[in-house]
Amino acid sequence: MEFRCFCDNKGCGKEMRPTVDKTTMVAYCAECGKAVNSISVFMRRQMVSHDQVRRDEKKKLPWAVKCSGCNKEGPPELSKDIVVAGHPITQTLICSFCGKELTALSKPFAEMIKVNLKAMRRADGG
Ligand SMILES: [Zn+2]
Ligand SMILES: [Zn+2]
Repeated sequence: MEFRCFCDNKGCGKEMRPTVDKTTMVAYCAECGKAVNSISVFMRRQMVSHDQVRRDEKKKLPWAVKCSGCNKEGPPELSKDIVVAGHPITQTLICSFCGKELTALSKPFAEMIKVNLKAMRRADGG
């Protein structure tokens, strides 16, 4: 049986299938990836027993890319905001493992990832 619930995080609130981290017993939203605290510990144990557990999050994301620098595969990160003379400079995608800029991505793919990362950032309230 699959357990579904609504995310209690501000800016998300979606119905989704949460997963539990077996080690920490923290439940995570499948949509925004943040901890969902409204799920009772009892329910979390149920989820673990039904194998509704959190896998390696980095591999789960659909936009994982392989870094040409360190050869690891994972979701890229946005570089820090750079502001030059009051104008924000376009952020680049960097490898989440070694921090090297990912230059081998096609432009539409890179843009798609950026949009997603920015949306996640907004969901974090920052
Ligand atoms: Zn959520
Ligand atoms: Zn790398």
